[in-house]
Amino acid sequence: MNTNQQQPQDNRQRKPWYSAWWPFVVALCLLLLFNGFLQPLLVRSQLKETDYGTFTQYVNQGKVEKVLIEDNKIYFSIAEEDGDGRRTTYVTGQMDDPGLVQRLSEAASPSETGHIVFAQEIPHENSPITNFLLWWVLPGVLFYFFFNMMMKKMGQRGGAGNFMSFGQSGAKIYADNEVKTTFADVAGQDEAKETLQEMVDFLHNPTKYTEIGASLPKGALLVGPPGTGKTLIARAVAGEAHVPFFSISGSEFVQMFVGMGASKVRDLFSQANEKAPCIIFIDEIDAIGKRRDSSGYGGNDEREQTLNQLLTEMDGFDSRKGVVILAATNRPEMLDKALLRPGRFDRRVQMELPDLEGRMAILKVHLKHVKHEENISLDLIARAMAGSSGADIANIVNEAALRAVRMGREVVAQQDLEESIETVMAGAQRKGKMISEQERRIISYHEIGHAMVAARLGGSAPVHKITIVPRTSGALGYTMQVDSGEQVLMSKKELLSRIATLTGGRAAEEVICGTVTTGASNDIEQATKLARTMVTRYGMSDKYGMMALETVNGAYLGGDTSLACAPDTAADIDNEVRQMIADGYEKAKKIIADNRAQMDAAARILLEKETITGEEFMRVIDTPAQLVGETR
Ligand code: ADP
Ligand code: MG
Ligand code: ZN
Repeated sequence: MNTNQQQPQDNRQRKPWYSAWWPFVVALCLLLLFNGFLQPLLVRSQLKETDYGTFTQYVNQGKVEKVLIEDNKIYFSIAEEDGDGRRTTYVTGQMDDPGLVQRLSEAASPSETGHIVFAQEIPHENSPITNFLLWWVLPGVLFYFFFNMMMKKMGQRGGAGNFMSFGQSGAKIYADNEVKTTFADVAGQDEAKETLQEMVDFLHNPTKYTEIGASLPKGALLVGPPGTGKTLIARAVAGEAHVPFFSISGSEFVQMFVGMGASKVRDLFSQANEKAPCIIFIDEIDAIGKRRDSSGYGGNDEREQTLNQLLTEMDGFDSRKGVVILAATNRPEMLDKALLRPGRFDRRVQMELPDLEGRMAILKVHLKHVKHEENISLDLIARAMAGSSGADIANIVNEAALRAVRMGREVVAQQDLEESIETVMAGAQRKGKMISEQERRIISYHEIGHAMVAARLGGSAPVHKITIVPRTSGALGYTMQVDSGEQVLMSKKELLSRIATLTGGRAAEEVICGTVTTGASNDIEQATKLARTMVTRYGMSDKYGMMALETVNGAYLGGDTSLACAPDTAADIDNEVRQMIADGYEKAKKIIADNRAQMDAAARILLEKETITGEEFMRVIDTPAQLVGETR
């Protein structure tokens, strides 16, 4: 599988650690080079202080070449050169020495004339001011220009603006200039694509819209459960429109210091303005877009400032320039109302979990990236994955490819996909776990119990597979039911038979094996949840009818609920739930007792083969009781 296509791509070009530092290093090297080598070459003399005594001594030795007497200083040079060929000029204080000039004019000197030259000027080192300019200011200026140029260069690649704004926010927002993702990579989600197509068109050809006077929506909010392709489709918009793509996650705005997030927002928008037309994508916007509230916790200044800045920027920029803002969230109900009003994220693009057709399409897209057998039944796989998101499907295809490699095959086969669905749903097969014969018998009856109740009650999905191979998730076996089609609505009758099916395992244990085990804990949990939902949200209890007793928070994230009723009612709900499950259990026990012969036959086959298919199972239980003993 081509992982580039699968993973939400990291769109920031990773920069090596040294990239930010190398201008400094180069500048430092230049400076050292300058001081170490160039200085001695440029200046062929240096100034040394000495005392008056040394001076007269040099005079007496006849070494002095030139002398310059200033107000209270005497500069003189001598003939000797020091080690590296430089002339040294000495300076010494002027003494009260009346005969000095006389003595100097008489003294011998190595100069051409043979006597000391009274110089107008002696080549000594630059004045301290020149010095300062040359050695400190010039490199500084050079350094500044050099660095500035570097920063500008980086700025063109979407870096942090210019040198002066360096450190303002530390924002490293890189535009991805060539997004490869296109709408073809996003399967299903046709409504979303349609809405976004308009934006693509706008980015292609803004004048067409502005000429007529239309102003396009500034932003679109992608809303939906995790893994439905929100990030993917945002990239695809950029890829389709061939514009730069600024992608940043909401949490990246949340900074340690108040004001940093806000300045990051400013940076982002100013960069985007420079690069227009382009797309800004803020992933998981709920991190900053949470409703501002006056709760007692003192609020979160930093987050609020960031949000305010975002609102201001969204108002401030001119949508005619062609900057489109996309944002994604899976908690739309948490967002601040101000974000959603017209002129900001005024479009809402709903990304739902894929339906059967959508799952098949997504499966196709992802199978394109792996070598697979021709005869794979997409339909069956897609049906087995009811309720999965696009990300789940991508994951399952990848798991299947990994399994194919593990099995030493070169192409992915149907069984790889089926097994990987099971792996994702129930954990990997757990080989070598020792289970006693007695336990295996109970597990077999338990699973057959589920399947039997499901088959006899009808109204629930047909049994696809029953297995007693233990899984790493702790499941000791399971019954897999696969819907034959897509179902949007569930009737009360169907839900009740679902509860009965869930109790079928325990019912079989009790009726046939005469014991009850811990193996039913997951069934119990699911049945309870379902029954409770029926009472509190689906209005399916006789007692409360259509009364909402629970409110759902975060519908896209598992849907936590909170009770919204009096404590007495809450206790009563428990009663209703208990009754509902008990009814289901009675039904299940009756079915199992009535089909004892078929139960035995099916369980025997399951014990022997560990896995039986839905068809085999149906053949067994459709055989009349008198004949079932011979079924194989
Ligand atoms: P979200 O942002 O909604 O949580 P992502 O866009 O990050 O989800 O999706 C994660 C991965 O799932 C994608 O990289 C892609 O491989 C896969 N995926 C999700 N939805 C689709 C889809 N409609 N078509 C193809 N692949 C999808
Ligand atoms: Mg995402
Ligand atoms: Zn069970």
